[in-house]
Amino acid sequence: MTGQVAVIGAGVVGLATAWALERRGLHCSVFEQGAPGGGQSAGESRIFRHAHRDPRQFELALRARRDWRDWEEAFGVQLISPDGSMVLGEDAVSRLERYADEPGIEVRELTPEEIREVLPPMDRFDGPAMIDETAGAIRTRLALANLIRAVGTNLIPERVEAVLPRITGGVEVVTENGSRTFDSAVVCAGRGTSFLAEASGVPIPVTDRAHVRLCFPVDGAGRERRLACFQDSSGFWGEDAGYGSAVRGNREYTVGLAVSASMDATAADSLDDLTARTLDYARRAMPGLSPWPAQALHCWVTELPWAPDGLAIWQSADTFFVAGHNLFKLAPVLGRALARSVASGEVEPGFRPEDRLGASIGEPAGSAG
Ligand SMILES: Cc1cc2nc3c(=O)[nH]c(=O)nc-3n(C[C@H](O)[C@H](O)[C@H](O)COP(=O)(O)OP(=O)(O)OC[C@H]3O[C@@H](n4cnc5c(N)ncnc54)[C@H](O)[C@@H]3O)c2cc1C
Repeated sequence: MTGQVAVIGAGVVGLATAWALERRGLHCSVFEQGAPGGGQSAGESRIFRHAHRDPRQFELALRARRDWRDWEEAFGVQLISPDGSMVLGEDAVSRLERYADEPGIEVRELTPEEIREVLPPMDRFDGPAMIDETAGAIRTRLALANLIRAVGTNLIPERVEAVLPRITGGVEVVTENGSRTFDSAVVCAGRGTSFLAEASGVPIPVTDRAHVRLCFPVDGAGRERRLACFQDSSGFWGEDAGYGSAVRGNREYTVGLAVSASMDATAADSLDDLTARTLDYARRAMPGLSPWPAQALHCWVTELPWAPDGLAIWQSADTFFVAGHNLFKLAPVLGRALARSVASGEVEPGFRPEDRLGASIGEPAGSAG
């Protein structure tokens, strides 16, 4: 196809899609109701990791890592920190060690002393641990700023009310200011995707959950040292799973649990409880950080029922809808898959809901980052 494409949502996925479409020679308009990058993509950092339960997502992460390098080259900036990402505990280690011999990633076991070298504020840990040297903290703001610049003139600051199929083909995008027609549309609206999909007759089984991450200041000397990301499934510090990542050029370190709270009538209690649990965990696992966080961030995650890392693309005529969790690290590869789906007129094989991407039979649930 050769026409005009509407992208709904200027988070990392919408921006990556818009740029991939532009690079294919397709013209797109990106509709955004608020500040670009201000939804689930907001914040200073995300973990890039190769380890996934589902081997198909490992393959995607490998491709995404190459694409992140491509973005780094195109934008002339480093987007993934060189500090690596560590896994602690048998479950997380088993997810990474099976890929140890794969070309393109560099993985090694860590002794308790080496753990303290790659992440000095961490408590002593004598269990199984590995580091992926080719993973690290994504510099999210830098990535978003460069993507916004790349698609800049095509950003339309309007809230989309509906995306409707036209009888003669193509789609009508209805906003508060009227409607415009396009040959196709890609809905990457984060928490807003299921609402727009529902109106198009596409039920997406996504659940919104609230998440807490705490940001701790790192003192001057600590900033000079290596601060790897971590994913912990050891249970050693009283929680099944937690994660951490450096932010703001090592000036702060964020810690979270791989759990989130349901947003029902007990929402406020759940969030308070989750904040207290996260603080306890951070103090036990990371005694080298200040015991008091500089800030607590409450944010939304959108999860599909089949896996914590589940993701899929739905289609209704000429409109594509994407939903899932932990999408930041995969954004370059997801954007290209969405652009190819638009160009071919059908969802790229492997990304369809029936593929249940992220689900790997026989493994326990629970993941971070
Ligand atoms: C605390 C936290 C930690 C995370 N950690 C990681 C991690 O370590 N690694 C990782 O890979 N991922 C992680 N994630 C997940 C990742 O951040 C998200 O999956 C990703 O940012 C989603 O991007 P998106 O573009 O799909 O959605 P969003 O960033 O939410 O973008 C959607 C945009 O659409 C706009 N919009 C919505 N409705 C409309 C409408 N009707 N009209 C116009 N605009 C609309 C919104 O304003 C928003 O800007 C984490 C998420 C959170 C919250």
